[in-house]
Amino acid sequence: MQIAPEFEAWTQAPADDELRLIPIGGLGEFGMNALVVHSARSLFLVDCGQLFPSDDQPGIDSIVPDFAYLEPFADQLQAVLLTHGHEDHIGALPYFLRRWPIPVYGTAFTLGLVENKLREHDLDARLLRPVKDYGRVKIGEGEIEAEWIPVTHSIPDACALVLHTPQGVVVHSGDFKLDPEPLDGRFTGLPRLKALGDAGVRLLMADSTNVGRPGRSPSESVCREGLEAAFEQTQGRLFITTFSSNIHRLQTVVDLAYEFRRRVVLLGRSLDRNLTLARTLKRLDLPDDILVDVKDAHLFDKDELVVLCTGSQGEPMSGLARLLRREVKGLPMEPGDRLVVSARAIPGNEVAISHMLDTAERLGAETSIEGLGPVHASGHGSRDELADLIQAVRPQQMVPVHGTYRNLRAHGKLAADLGWPTERISLLDGGLCLRLFKDGRVDMPGVVPVGKCFVHEGVDHMVDARVVQDRLILQEDGVVFATLLVDPQTGELAATPTILSRGFVMLSDDEAYAELLAGVARKAYNEAPPEVRKNGEALRDTLRLALRRIIRKTTSTRPLVIPVILEAPPA
Ligand SMILES: [Zn+2]
Ligand SMILES: [Zn+2]
Repeated sequence: MQIAPEFEAWTQAPADDELRLIPIGGLGEFGMNALVVHSARSLFLVDCGQLFPSDDQPGIDSIVPDFAYLEPFADQLQAVLLTHGHEDHIGALPYFLRRWPIPVYGTAFTLGLVENKLREHDLDARLLRPVKDYGRVKIGEGEIEAEWIPVTHSIPDACALVLHTPQGVVVHSGDFKLDPEPLDGRFTGLPRLKALGDAGVRLLMADSTNVGRPGRSPSESVCREGLEAAFEQTQGRLFITTFSSNIHRLQTVVDLAYEFRRRVVLLGRSLDRNLTLARTLKRLDLPDDILVDVKDAHLFDKDELVVLCTGSQGEPMSGLARLLRREVKGLPMEPGDRLVVSARAIPGNEVAISHMLDTAERLGAETSIEGLGPVHASGHGSRDELADLIQAVRPQQMVPVHGTYRNLRAHGKLAADLGWPTERISLLDGGLCLRLFKDGRVDMPGVVPVGKCFVHEGVDHMVDARVVQDRLILQEDGVVFATLLVDPQTGELAATPTILSRGFVMLSDDEAYAELLAGVARKAYNEAPPEVRKNGEALRDTLRLALRRIIRKTTSTRPLVIPVILEAPPA
């Protein structure tokens, strides 16, 4: 996959004049954002996100970056700096902090989300260090100072990070857009970024998510229009699903509920948790009497309720999914009701979402949003906003981050179109190291070890990629067991091998086929040289190979084949 050469000296500490920036996740993929910043006297991480597993990673709950690069420098790690509280930026923290309990810096709402997460994992929240907008913190020995600049995004308290380093100023945009009408009145700190640009910025790392969209992303405030129409046009219950961290969207729904005299029911654990946090931090204005417990929902008429639920991506354990399975007592979905999905489909979730909408329609609810007006606005800036950022900061060097490799290239092209010479645009990829030197030199010495680690909740070690591979084979073609009973005295087979299968194209009670496989296993055993018979591993390999070959020839499938060799008990 990786075309760049290995960075051979990666285990050696950086030289005095050198600053390394290494994305160990989040580039060339969506999710798992984590950037290593490393100099002779500083070592810290910007964001520590997770990736949600896809259908081809069965049984995996979370995917987190491989932190192998940090191991040789384990005792020098100083901090984690967070841009904002989305899972693709904070989700790996519980796994990371268990290994490296170091201070975590971020704004109040971000750390509130982290704290909830740490509590779930029985981890100490005393490592959390809150920072205010435009706040500055000296990291480690103080050679590098970090500054948090507010940006508009689909979650409260999102920030860009500025690193004041001996190699110059590094600006990391975080996830951002330039919302001209943010609901909370907290604007992107463009004037500060411009001022930094005036003084000279060495490097800009900027969000590439929406580089493919022309113009500007609509303001969060436009969602009010579509949601208001939904309130107006719905006679029955109104169900709205969105991301539970999108507090501004939830505020819009709460405000409309107040105006349309509907009470709000919350469905989904993360909604409860996030609304409580937002309310405590005064990021959400929620009148006391507007919430109705789900247990009391049956006491209200249909047109007196709006139900906010998790599950906009079709997640099977979400509030909405439970509701659609009719598992929520006293709160059915019926003809006359309406379901509004106030979120975009994250790539990969389209099928689950389509299935969810179908189920709602079967129950008689209206799910079309046609004619309502906008019910969702992206939290990421489109092309013109990305251009505005580049022109505000006017960096010596530009690095696109956060997106697929195509996004990164398109973002680089955008910078080129704005007049940045190609040598000042660096395309990084997972593990590829960028070095800035004090004398102005820039280079990319190669890649460091990176990868994905699989988390299976409740298991305290990482799940090996081969386990996931086996699960995939099981899912695809099933498993075939061949049990051979060997007489320990003679070394010969004591009985005909037994064949057992699960999820394989042939059922175990297909006797003729089982006989065919048993015959192949017997032949492979009988023909194996004595030294192979004595070596369990080699013998199993021989049997596996023979069985796989006949199975592929006769059925064109590749199940997991497991030979089991047992000693026959004395007669
Ligand atoms: Zn985000
Ligand atoms: Zn993100």
